[in-house]
Amino acid sequence: MTTPTPQNPTEPTSANPPIAALDGVTKIYGKDDIQVTALNNVSLQFRRGEFTAIMGPSGSGKSTMLHVLAGLDTLSSGQVVVDGSNLGQMNDTTLTRFRRDRIGFVFQAFNLIPTITVKANIELPLRLAGKKVDSTWFDQVVHALNLQERLVHKPYQLSGGQQQRVAVARALITRPALLVADEPTGNLDSSSTTEVLGLLRAAVDQLGQTVIMVTHDRRAAGYADRVLVVRDGAITADLPHPSEAKIAEVA
Ligand code: ADP
Ligand code: MG
Repeated sequence: MTTPTPQNPTEPTSANPPIAALDGVTKIYGKDDIQVTALNNVSLQFRRGEFTAIMGPSGSGKSTMLHVLAGLDTLSSGQVVVDGSNLGQMNDTTLTRFRRDRIGFVFQAFNLIPTITVKANIELPLRLAGKKVDSTWFDQVVHALNLQERLVHKPYQLSGGQQQRVAVARALITRPALLVADEPTGNLDSSSTTEVLGLLRAAVDQLGQTVIMVTHDRRAAGYADRVLVVRDGAITADLPHPSEAKIAEVA
């Protein structure tokens, strides 16, 4: 009698389809003799409500992967499906709206608007979309990110860590299908880094959001449920809940 292979309980099933999937995605920049293959035939699925960290050397394709997931870049071949929508089949208007409503992006630079309050910065994506603010969700996000005391302040009155918390809140306010973060702690000191990582974790655990974060920092990757390692535009490791020692081995 053979022992049945145990199924990975977090593997997407038809009852729990992946929130995002790359299928044979290749992205080539430039043409002729100056071509760069940033992503080389990548197939990958992301589960709803999971925190994924993407690691790998500079130039390996990490940012490109976030950009294609966010519909910020077109593909050379393959498909990207987010929350049931094939991004390659959308026209520009639909894609712009999809990005605005369904994707939250957090960058290394906080990109807050300096002249308006924290509250107005957080609400901005909804205002731009002409949508009402759901006050229950707003309060949940603000509490989860511990920003309730800061709402009337302007960004310059906040520390770097606090500003990045505001950027995370702004990315969450639309209840995006995906929150993608490109080295969100790259400009932060150690205590602010801890603060922001804890909040990305809270976005997953308390708010049920899906977070995909690029980082160079093994400690940051330690907050994730899953660590992907990218090298030369391909996934070379895909590790559930790795220890820091394991991450050090492969990344
Ligand atoms: P990472 O985020 O891992 O540092 P990127 O995804 O930014 O890597 O880049 C992957 C490769 O694609 C690199 O060789 C980079 O130079 C190249 N690349 C990225 N964006 C562009 C672009 N807009 N035009 C040309 N080459 C690019
Ligand atoms: Mg990058």
